Amino acid sequence: AETYRAVTGRIVLSRNLQHEGSGRITQHIEISLPPGTEYLEGDHLGVLPVNPEMLVQRVLRRFKLNAGSHLILSAEGRSGAHLPTGIPVRLDDLLSRSVELQEPATRAQIREMAACTVCPPHAKELQELIEEATYQAEVRAKRITMLDLLERYEACELPFERFLELLPPLKPRYYSISSSPKVSRNTASITVSVVRDRAWSGKGEYRGIASNYLAEMEPGAEVLMFIRSSESGFALPEDPAKPMIMIGPGTGVAPFRGFIQARQALREAGQELGAAHLYFGCRNPEQDFLYREEFERAEQEGLVTLHTAFSRVNGAEKCYVQHLMKQDGMLLLSLLEGGAQMYICGDGSRMAPEVEQTLICSYRERHGVNAEDAAAWLSGLESSGQYVKDVWAG
Ligand code: FAD
Repeated sequence: AETYRAVTGRIVLSRNLQHEGSGRITQHIEISLPPGTEYLEGDHLGVLPVNPEMLVQRVLRRFKLNAGSHLILSAEGRSGAHLPTGIPVRLDDLLSRSVELQEPATRAQIREMAACTVCPPHAKELQELIEEATYQAEVRAKRITMLDLLERYEACELPFERFLELLPPLKPRYYSISSSPKVSRNTASITVSVVRDRAWSGKGEYRGIASNYLAEMEPGAEVLMFIRSSESGFALPEDPAKPMIMIGPGTGVAPFRGFIQARQALREAGQELGAAHLYFGCRNPEQDFLYREEFERAEQEGLVTLHTAFSRVNGAEKCYVQHLMKQDGMLLLSLLEGGAQMYICGDGSRMAPEVEQTLICSYRERHGVNAEDAAAWLSGLESSGQYVKDVWAG
């Protein structure tokens, strides 16, 4: 918490934005900020999560330890810089707040476990997992953790202190702020897609640490958090009259809700607004069209033009934001060539590269240039700050 200069926020509202029948959860969470904590549209809210009780109990059971026992860690450990040293800490606190318990085991960790395993056949099995192809298929792809392996191999006598040292520090998770300080100065909202699915290990359900921690918090609960301003310049244009293109399917729409709120406040303050186009995509408008009423109202009020793509509507072909952008290629190019600001937010592994390819194709068509020149045009927009990204992987 000190590393990030975290402060304590308080949950004031939490609701699922998805329709019950969708089987998925996207939680809109409003957090009241302590005095002195400020933010801007496009900033991130960092959350220091807490591991779930069930995971902590599994560790305690495996090492036959007591939740309430206290431990004083010395600073002499080989790699325990992230652990609190020299002061008594309760074991369950340590396990809930300091270390990642759900990361896939690394080969170095498995090697050390094998060295501590007294039963030769089991030590051999662990050794075999280190072999590159087996490791990738059996550990990484399935996200098998050190704890999973310790439970599988009871003869592994890895000392608890060493287990702690080998675990990576619990990292903060970042969420794009989905409100505007011009509307709610003391409260910031985030839009959290909850990671909850059949585990790739084949055993039970996988629950992401921070998204589930946040989604399960009731109003009134406290959360350790901090604000991180956008390094990429993901902010409203200085001149509100500058046209904007916003591309944000799924939870990628989060910062744009803040932008649209700000536009309303700016217009009320007498500012003239440029055009704003929002490309949003989801599976089905009846199930996961996040903030639908707000966005439709904003469109009626002339604050934004919505372009919506749906990928799972009975009888209709799958449509993603890049398909709409292809159709609108000439409109987008004239906006960009006229100096419009372009933003993309959300999935950086598939959506963002496909959107970029679509823009590059439209540019080639319009100007009859080769792929290289068109790609150079897009990177030029990025280096000049006219095109900014806020993307993340899965
Ligand atoms: P973790 O415990 O970290 O688990 C996630 C890991 O589990 C991933 O590696 C994933 O591949 C893996 N996994 C997924 N499904 C399974 C499965 N079935 N079995 C096994 N493993 C699985 N998220 C938002 O929802 N909204 C935002 O606005 C937002 N903004 C972001 C902005 C930035 C700059 C960045 C970097 C990320 C942002 N994220 C956002 C992502 C967010 O920070 C977290 O990564 C996300 O919430 C998952 O965290 P978690 O702790 O719940 O999951």
